[in-house]
Amino acid sequence: MARFEILEQAISELAALPGIGRRSASRIAMHLLKAEEYRARALLASIEELRSQIRFCDICGGLSHESICHICADASRSHEELCVVEEPSDIFAIENTGEFNGDYHVLMGALSPLDGIGPEELTIAALLKRVESGNYAEIFIATNPTLEGDATASYIGELLSGKKMLLTRLMHGIPTGSALEYADNSTLARSIRSRQRLE
Ligand SMILES: [Zn+2]
Repeated sequence: MARFEILEQAISELAALPGIGRRSASRIAMHLLKAEEYRARALLASIEELRSQIRFCDICGGLSHESICHICADASRSHEELCVVEEPSDIFAIENTGEFNGDYHVLMGALSPLDGIGPEELTIAALLKRVESGNYAEIFIATNPTLEGDATASYIGELLSGKKMLLTRLMHGIPTGSALEYADNSTLARSIRSRQRLE
């Protein structure tokens, strides 16, 4: 029966992944058993490479091969604007528009009390430290237009209110409830250009 315990273990690991319930986990585990062996080995190798080659930038939290990412290391960028996003993938979406040339800060999620995600689970303390020690004229909060993203934007807005810099937020264009990374490029570009002062 030891072999089945191994299957059970694989299912538990898969079921711990986001968006995968036990039923899907079980189907994936069976698929991995039935598929050609090289397919399963390729998946394993790519997970290993992912973990050994890619890390989070020490400054912004974006994806990087080095301790500091290419955006933070780019001397030609402006250090007067700081764009706050939920996930590293949001940086790609915003970079693809070509509408933003400042620094980024990745929160690693959004406030979601029901899921146990409070300010301590996000990189908000690090954000405040960067704002304190930086020379930013604008903090551009580009969290997703979802309940959690809006709550996170308001929370950060309150923490930073009273500071001298301009606080802005993506307001229009991206459908409510969706994520930046799925917004089409021109819509996102337009909402970055028309970002508004956070009230
Ligand atoms: Zn960086």
